Amino acid sequence: MYQSDPSNEAMIERYVKPTVRDRRVLDAMRKTPRHFFAPTHLGRYSYHDEALPIGHGQTISQPSLVAMMTEALQLRESDIVLEIGTGSGYQAAILSHLARHVVTIELIPDLADSARKRFRDLQCSNITVITGDGRKGYPSRAPYDRIILTAGATSFPEALIVQLIEGGRVVAPIGETLDHLQICVGKKYRGVIRWERGIHVAFVPLR
Ligand code: SAH
Repeated sequence: MYQSDPSNEAMIERYVKPTVRDRRVLDAMRKTPRHFFAPTHLGRYSYHDEALPIGHGQTISQPSLVAMMTEALQLRESDIVLEIGTGSGYQAAILSHLARHVVTIELIPDLADSARKRFRDLQCSNITVITGDGRKGYPSRAPYDRIILTAGATSFPEALIVQLIEGGRVVAPIGETLDHLQICVGKKYRGVIRWERGIHVAFVPLR
C-alpha cells in the first residue's frame, strides 16, 4: 500500500481537516496520492486546494470538495457505489478505500483508459471502469447503495434513481442552470429522492 507523503499530509491538514471530520475519509485521502492523478506538468500543484485540468476540457475537483462530497455519502464498508464521471480516477480511488466495490462510468474513452491503468498501478482492485454514458447508469451491478455524480447537471438522471437502493444516498452538483450548481444530498424513500441543498460549487457539465 502507498505511504502518504508529506505534501499529501500537509494538504489534508490545511485544506481538508477544517471542514471534514470523518477519520475514515481522511485516511482514504492519505492512501490516495493526488499527484498520481494529475498531468505530469502540473504535478507541483497536486497538493494545492485547486481544481486541475486533466485534458479533454475536464478537471479534477479541488481536494476539499472531493473530501466534502465523500463525507456526505456516508459510506459503509459493505456498500456498492456508482460514480458518474471517472475523470482522472481520483475520487473513485478514494471511494474504493471506503466501500466494497466502486463502479465508475466515463464518457471519454481516453480518460477511462488512463484511469483503469492508474487503478492497476495503485492496486485498487475493487473498481470497475465502464466507458459510456453515465446518465443511463449501469443496471447489471444495480442496485447501488450510494451514487455520486462528479459532473454538474440541471436534474438527477431518472435511470440512476431506479438503480439506487431504497434508503440509499446520492451526492451530486445540481442547479437550475449549470452556472448555479449546489452540492445536493438526497435519500431515496418510496422510489422518490428527498433532497437537501448544500454549498454552491463550480463543476464541468454532465453531457
Ligand atoms: N471525478 C473525477 C472528475 C470528474 S470531471 C476525478 O476525480 O478526477 C467530470 C467527468 O465527467 C469528466 O471526465 C467528463 O468526461 C465526465 N462526463 C461528463 N458527462 C458524462 C456522462 N454523461 N457520462 C459519463 N461521464 C461523463
